[in-house]
Amino acid sequence: MKKAAAVIVAIVLAALAAFVVYDATLNKTVSESFFAMNTLVSAEVTGISAKEDCTEIEKIVSLLDTETLSRTAEGSEIFRLNKNGGGEIGEKTAEYFSLLTDVCEKSGGAFDFTLGGVSDLWKFGSNPEIPNENALADALLHSGYKKVFLDGNTVSVSDSLVIDFGAAGKGIALDEIKNHLEASKAKRAVVAVGGSVLLYGEGDFTVGIRNPEGNSGSYLAKLKTDACCVSTSGSYEQSFEENGRIYHHILDPKTGYPADNEVLSVTIVSDSGLLSDALSTACFVLGVEKGFELAEEYGARAVFVTKDKKIIARNNIEDIIEITNEDYTLVIQ
Ligand code: AMP
Ligand code: MG
Repeated sequence: MKKAAAVIVAIVLAALAAFVVYDATLNKTVSESFFAMNTLVSAEVTGISAKEDCTEIEKIVSLLDTETLSRTAEGSEIFRLNKNGGGEIGEKTAEYFSLLTDVCEKSGGAFDFTLGGVSDLWKFGSNPEIPNENALADALLHSGYKKVFLDGNTVSVSDSLVIDFGAAGKGIALDEIKNHLEASKAKRAVVAVGGSVLLYGEGDFTVGIRNPEGNSGSYLAKLKTDACCVSTSGSYEQSFEENGRIYHHILDPKTGYPADNEVLSVTIVSDSGLLSDALSTACFVLGVEKGFELAEEYGARAVFVTKDKKIIARNNIEDIIEITNEDYTLVIQ
């Protein structure tokens, strides 16, 4: 009897040892970074097919850009819509369209994906400059999400405007990457597409909120969360200074000029990449009070960094935030 028990124990131990070796060999962690969507993408994946997952992530982001979302890649769906003043789009793109239209509506137009013509005049990404006033007024006149209609998979546009999903593209990429990781049974992953981060899988994650007035490695606070998407929109991402004023790329659709309020950055925590990205842009334009209202309408959490060195959040974030820069004060509203 004793011998039989010893044999069973030995078999169990051998099986466990084999599992540990098996697991250790199969669950690899692989990191990679590359450029796509005009930004740096970095991925760290743990799982049995981590290497293939990283390759697939690069493909997903690059193709999403060149075949669907890019305004400049000839042949992308958005490029064709803009060129032809409407047309057919794929099922997934139609879904993004209606989700983003909802953000336009719920934000009262603070988020508007038809500002491409206005953005172009500011030339962010090349040689930014203050646009000619008349040209800006004209481009603004030819914008407005209410002039774009989606019927099934067909988009029609009642004006010559330029559709731009730039405020949500990185978040959309996170959702597509998440779908892939679920299908490939990855264990854990952290994928950053510019200022939008996917935290995927088991355990806790720590993500930093960048110091809007510091360099790219400088952080103000840490958020400790489980799996989710975290996007930050900040005026520091693309800006220039002229005559002592700072001009940045997040525009107020009412004026065509950079949104000018108390906000330096907004971080949104949401289960959806698309929403985290779109809402971070929308909440930047709306400012603290209305921004919180919008985020909460979507069940998302928001953290605002303001010009008077406050980090403003609601109590839904109090338990997961840690301030790491003593020049800033946490205010729970
Ligand atoms: P993000 O960095 O995600 O906040 O997105 C900023 C980008 O969104 C800009 O570079 C523009 O292409 C576009 N954009 C600027 N202002 C708005 C706005 N009010 N609503 C929607 N998209 C915008
Ligand atoms: Mg955004």
